[in-house]
Order: sequence, then structure tokens, then C-alpha cells
Amino acid sequence: MYANYHTHTVRCGHAVGSETEYIENAIRGGLKLLGFSDHTPYDFFDVGPRNRPIRMAPEELPDYAETLRGLADRYRGRIELRIGVEAEYYPKYFPALLDMLRANGIEYMILGQHFLGNEVDEPYCGRPTEDVRVLERYVAQSSEALQTGLFTYFAHPDLIHFVGSAEIYDRQMRRLCETAKQTQTPLEINLLGLRDGRHYPCARFWEIAGEVGNDVILGCDAHAPEDVCSPEAEARALALVEKNALHMLASVPLRRL
Ligand SMILES: [Zn+2]
Ligand SMILES: [Zn+2]
Repeated sequence: MYANYHTHTVRCGHAVGSETEYIENAIRGGLKLLGFSDHTPYDFFDVGPRNRPIRMAPEELPDYAETLRGLADRYRGRIELRIGVEAEYYPKYFPALLDMLRANGIEYMILGQHFLGNEVDEPYCGRPTEDVRVLERYVAQSSEALQTGLFTYFAHPDLIHFVGSAEIYDRQMRRLCETAKQTQTPLEINLLGLRDGRHYPCARFWEIAGEVGNDVILGCDAHAPEDVCSPEAEARALALVEKNALHMLASVPLRRL
């Protein structure tokens, strides 16, 4: 791998290790670019905070950005560091989120739609469901996110765990892949899913992406320093790329906020 844009830090409450450990491992593994994209803070001001262990608190964002800016200077010439976040698209809170990210000099966002609606009272998208309405809402909300043109790429687009009709899944996911293509948003094959044996990457989803002709990129989704170098998961992801004749990118242009 040349670049990995999907790296967490301890601030989200469910990752381990220091930033320098992630960076040193990335250098050892041969990465030329490492992007940090911890779970974005969200200020659910009218419903009370719901942060850890999902995401950092808003007051932790300045330290996150400053720490990484300092490290980017320190490691200049050895590895290129980029400062991003993994963010859900919640329509109600999105404008305030952008203000907060811009004020802290965050360079990019990747879309990780872990919940629907505005998160509160909504189930995790990775929970198995036969409910067509949940699938439709995932596709509609993610599509709206892609159409903002602000997300550098779409992390684990196949996180939704629909176990109902295969025909309905195909129709909905094809629409999602087409929207990603129209908005020129690459789709991520998530190496955490492979390392952990999760329900994603979903074989059928990547067949559809191959048919639609999406651009794809690999993402480590590192929650521990050793995750930025996972050759075994990478080999399995590459097999998926080859099998479906996917168009893989080594790096992606950042969509600045
Ligand atoms: Zn995620
Ligand atoms: Zn992640």
C-alpha cells in the first residue's frame, strides 16, 4: 500500500497506542502517506452528549489536530501525514460539524455511516436486519452525503447488514454505487472487516461495484498501531479487487473542507 487514510487514535475510546507508534509502523510497512481519521466529535447539543466509546468529545478536537500538525512537521521527508476524520452524515448536525472541523484545520473527511437519522435512537447499521426500510434509508442517507461532494471517500460502504431479499439488496446497492460513481467518490475495501472476520467486505457488494465500475481504495481502519501494516488482509482485499476487476487507486485526492 502507498497510502492509508483510515487511522484512529485513543481519543475515540476504543483504539489503542500512541500516534507515533502508528506512524513508525506505517514507515516500517512502507507507507508513503498516513491519514488519521479518528471518529469525529459530534455535538448533540439538544439531546445530551453521546460520545465515548464511539467518538472523541468536541473539546478533544483541538489537541487531536495540534498533535498531528506537530507530528506532520516532525516526520516531514519520511512520511506525509494528513489530518482528517471519519464522519457520519447527520443532516441536522452537519453544518455545525463542518464549522467545528474547519475551525480546527481538519483537512478531509471520510464517510462512515454507522447510524441512520441523526444517530440518537437509531440502531447500529452493522446489525443484521431484514427490514427493507432500513436498507433504503441507509442508501438514501449515504447518497445524500456523497452528493455534498465533501467526502474524500466512502469507508466500508457495505457496513449495512441486510439479510433479506437478495434482489432488493442488489437494486439498492447498485443505486448507491452509481451515486458514488457520479460523484466520483471512491469506495473503501475495509481491512478491519477482513482482519476481524466481520460481515463486510460483502462479496455481493463488490461484485456490484465491479459491474458499476467504481473506483476503490484500501483502508486499514487501524485501531491499533500494528493495523497500519496488515499484509494478510491486504492480500485478501487484492484478491477481491482482481476477482471483480475493480479499478483500484493507490491514493486519492483530498476533498478539502
Ligand atoms: Zn467506521
Ligand atoms: Zn474507522
